[in-house]
Amino acid sequence: MNVQSITCQTDLYNLHSHTHFCDGKASMQEIAEAARRVGMLHLGFTPHSPIACHSTCNMVREAVDPYLSEIARLRDIHGEQMQVWQSMEIDYLSRDFGPHIDYFQRLPLDYRLASVHFVPNYDGIPIDCDGRYERFSQRLKEEFRGDIRYVVEKFFEHTLTMIELGGFDILGHFDKIARNASQASPGIEEESWYEALIDDVISHAISAQVAIEVNTKAYDEHKRFFPSQRWMDKVIASGLPIVVNSDVHHPDKVNAGRNEALKLIRSLK
Ligand SMILES: [Zn+2]
Ligand SMILES: [Zn+2]
Repeated sequence: MNVQSITCQTDLYNLHSHTHFCDGKASMQEIAEAARRVGMLHLGFTPHSPIACHSTCNMVREAVDPYLSEIARLRDIHGEQMQVWQSMEIDYLSRDFGPHIDYFQRLPLDYRLASVHFVPNYDGIPIDCDGRYERFSQRLKEEFRGDIRYVVEKFFEHTLTMIELGGFDILGHFDKIARNASQASPGIEEESWYEALIDDVISHAISAQVAIEVNTKAYDEHKRFFPSQRWMDKVIASGLPIVVNSDVHHPDKVNAGRNEALKLIRSLK
């Protein structure tokens, strides 16, 4: 499946969806039914991939076959009206674990979505820096001695290496760390070193010719996309395919924020 062939044809898609196979709050069937209700023509499932460290948010390897079986079942039900795609949101942890490794390359996925959620602490242990600020704030203190710049630089260093190593089609929410980082350090995104990191990510993405996700998960609550609205002109200027995804975890949110993001992108083009 070619991601751009979908996004060029229609806005009625969502290629980033979570369910009970990871930390989503609904079954795959419930998400599929919600997508049908809003008229989607393409729905991609992206459970958080199996991972090489302890994480309650990620699926286990033993769940991959049942996941693929459920995709086949949903294709039988919805295939005439809506294409159902099998994918994963693959975590990057290190040069030894990311979308590029054989395990993920051998899985029969229609496309691969790659995201950074974990940042290694000073002992090299991956720390989940995604999720709610209260948890992040505690981890910032306990695992990173309160050094927000270290966390942000590591996050983007991992993003750059992940892009260099390749093996995926869509770069997921590439400035996701900004949500928590900007709460820990207001104004951080206005600093020149921070903007230089954003520029690095975009130039790496251009070299790799991957699609860039505009993730709308936080729009309802925080009025922010990932990447942030402030970088949208740079993203558009890259000329790369843009994929607008809701990162749905609950059926009510299957299309949340997508129309607002699509409207913004159209207005800047
Ligand atoms: Zn994610
Ligand atoms: Zn996600």
